[in-house]
Amino acid sequence: MPQADAITEYVLKVHSRCDLRCDHCYVYVHRDQTWIDRPKVIDPAVAHRVAERIAEHARAHRLHRVRVVLHGGEPLLLGPRRLDALLTDLRATVSPAAALDLVLQSNGVQLTEELCGIFVRHRVRVGISLDGDAEANDRHRRFGTGASSHAAVLRALELLRRPEFRPAYGGILCTVDVANDPIRVYTALLAERPPRIDFLLPHATWDDPPPRPMSTVDDRTPYARWLLRIYRRWLQDGRPVPVRLFDSLRSTAVGGPSQTESVGLDPVALVVIETDGAWEQADSLKTAFHGAAGTGMSVWTHSLDEVAAHPDIAARRDGAAELCATCRACPVVRQCGGGLRAHRYRTGSGFDNPSVYCADLEELIRSMRGEPEVSTGSATMAPGPELDARLDDLAAGPGSADTAWWLLEQGQLYAKALLLDVVGSLPLPAPLAEAWQLLNELGETAPDAFAQVLRQPWLRPWLLSCLPDAGAHADLGYLAALTGAAAVHAGVTAELWVPVRDGRVHLPGLGSAVTGPAAGGATLRVTPDGFTVTAPGSPAVAVHRGRPGEQPGWLPVRHAGPDEWPVLLDDLDALRDCQDWPVADRLGDEAARAWDDRLRGAWTVLTREAPDYLPALRGAVHTVVPLRDDPAGEHRSATQREAFAAVGLAAADGAATAVLLVHELQHVKLGALLDLCDLTEPDNLTTVTVPWREDERPVDAALQGLYAHLAVADLWRRRSGAAAAGNYRRYRAWVSAAADALLRTSALTGAGTRFVAGMQAAVDGWPAPDP
Ligand code: SF4
Ligand code: SF4
Repeated sequence: MPQADAITEYVLKVHSRCDLRCDHCYVYVHRDQTWIDRPKVIDPAVAHRVAERIAEHARAHRLHRVRVVLHGGEPLLLGPRRLDALLTDLRATVSPAAALDLVLQSNGVQLTEELCGIFVRHRVRVGISLDGDAEANDRHRRFGTGASSHAAVLRALELLRRPEFRPAYGGILCTVDVANDPIRVYTALLAERPPRIDFLLPHATWDDPPPRPMSTVDDRTPYARWLLRIYRRWLQDGRPVPVRLFDSLRSTAVGGPSQTESVGLDPVALVVIETDGAWEQADSLKTAFHGAAGTGMSVWTHSLDEVAAHPDIAARRDGAAELCATCRACPVVRQCGGGLRAHRYRTGSGFDNPSVYCADLEELIRSMRGEPEVSTGSATMAPGPELDARLDDLAAGPGSADTAWWLLEQGQLYAKALLLDVVGSLPLPAPLAEAWQLLNELGETAPDAFAQVLRQPWLRPWLLSCLPDAGAHADLGYLAALTGAAAVHAGVTAELWVPVRDGRVHLPGLGSAVTGPAAGGATLRVTPDGFTVTAPGSPAVAVHRGRPGEQPGWLPVRHAGPDEWPVLLDDLDALRDCQDWPVADRLGDEAARAWDDRLRGAWTVLTREAPDYLPALRGAVHTVVPLRDDPAGEHRSATQREAFAAVGLAAADGAATAVLLVHELQHVKLGALLDLCDLTEPDNLTTVTVPWREDERPVDAALQGLYAHLAVADLWRRRSGAAAAGNYRRYRAWVSAAADALLRTSALTGAGTRFVAGMQAAVDGWPAPDP
């Protein structure tokens, strides 16, 4: 079974009863009532068998990381002694097989200092349920006596905010009730200074629809309007805290992953373990019908491979394929994903329906796309737990897929703000003003096509060349070329002027039409079927959609690399020539095929040797620029700080290309990180000695080299043989020496110090090289 079919997230029910009687609880109040027959408390033998099953599965599938969420009922009812023992056993059994993320989801009422101490010690992040201020929270979250739980929950959050317990503060989970004022709810949640907030739509199905206010004209989508009020305020506030639902919809809008099974098409690789050891599907299904989450399997009788093969669990990995026809044809399905599976249920048709929140989800997604962004500008991310977590993740070496996509998303927001600022202030002649208007319209009507423009690595270098103080002669015609490419992606009907440069009309990311010289430019006509480029005195170049490859007069930007990591092989765009090493000219077919083989080979090498770098590579590198070979035979590679997601590579074999790729991947990630926070003090002139150069290096350059060499050392340490051992020893020593040198300066900011110390800790944690 390949890793894609493995289970990586486990919801472990450790106590099946609760000290609250929330009237919106899907465990006790909704259709499923299986809790009545479950043991109240998980037996340690069951918990140990669960841990063994997880470890066995992680080893079999070479999983690097798994997540276990302790859940209930109310997991704190297990008490400190039994929780401590259970966590000790989980860590001892699972950690040798895979890194273990431990999370606990609680109502917080029973949280004590002793428990917080246990959670810090076992590195457990605790999520607390809170629906807003006292009035909002008490609407549902009460004790059996009817008494309010609000004060007890605030006490729990106060404990988690204490510096010694802060590492255990995972965030707040808020169930939406449209009867509450959204801004008051948002403000109340923010006041608890959580590291993360998540909003959950109340569980409902077509049989038991969610509460909706008495009908007025606007009441078709009350949940969308409620969430949008918070979304707008959150944007105005500069996104002071990650909000999982919003972050997921923003990430999926640009092709990134979702952080929640509530939205998006990412495969769901989750199982629940009940207190009696029964393997179950996602808990939320309990809202649908009695026994909806059951699989008939148990930790005593069935392995996780068998659970993963259960048809209903396997179906969750199918993305859009498991959705109904309406969802599959829906223009926002990539972001919505049909919502939470439980919310699609209707007696008779089962789960083969859109979500009962369909209208709300569609409006939320469409309206979020149209919201003006608050420019993130440069180095604007505030210090705090979110930034710390990203820095720690990146400093470990590969960085997670989530962080790579987050960097991409932030990069696109930055590019969008820059595009609006720069082009909005340019005096544009008539044909370019029309192109700008069309591009803005596409931003509204075809956001996916517009996002393709924002993903263009050459967009930012071009925008910067347009700034008045750039000292460069900007080619303003590139704006029309970008707009033309967006129109082609959108498949709209449009006609616009495009520039001819060196006898070609280039559409960034798509290819070049060979027209011959035409000083006055050419006309691009786009239809849903394709496009035509017409220049005076030359035959028209017609390109039909759906017919990939070269057509007469058309040089496409080729696609290369494996299915898991498709990249553009850009040997055409004039702006690609911004690397430290000269770029190669247009490749012949044979040379292009060699590049495809080379990138596939590098992917295979990394899959074998360093699979934890692959998610970041997929997220952060989308374009490869072939460079010229070095006549001296040196391996050459390059990145350009502003050209996010592009790397330049000269030809090398698969193993060497793998090393060059991880080296450049680090530069790409670090460049994007530097857009968000300062790692070095501005205007400092400090230089340091680094082992890989004879001259003293500015701290920024030393930091770039350090981060790149960290990954290279990491790669060599995983290879065998004398040469690998020597390289590992050399690069590891370089990283240690450079980190040490940087930490001795006063040129690093707090974030920079954390980042460099994180790298130092990463290499310190690796095995000592053979002498
Ligand atoms: S705290 Fe959670 S488990 Fe307990 S009754 Fe409320 S919603 Fe249900
Ligand atoms: S918006 Fe509605 S139709 Fe579209 S994917 Fe979501 S639930 Fe399905």
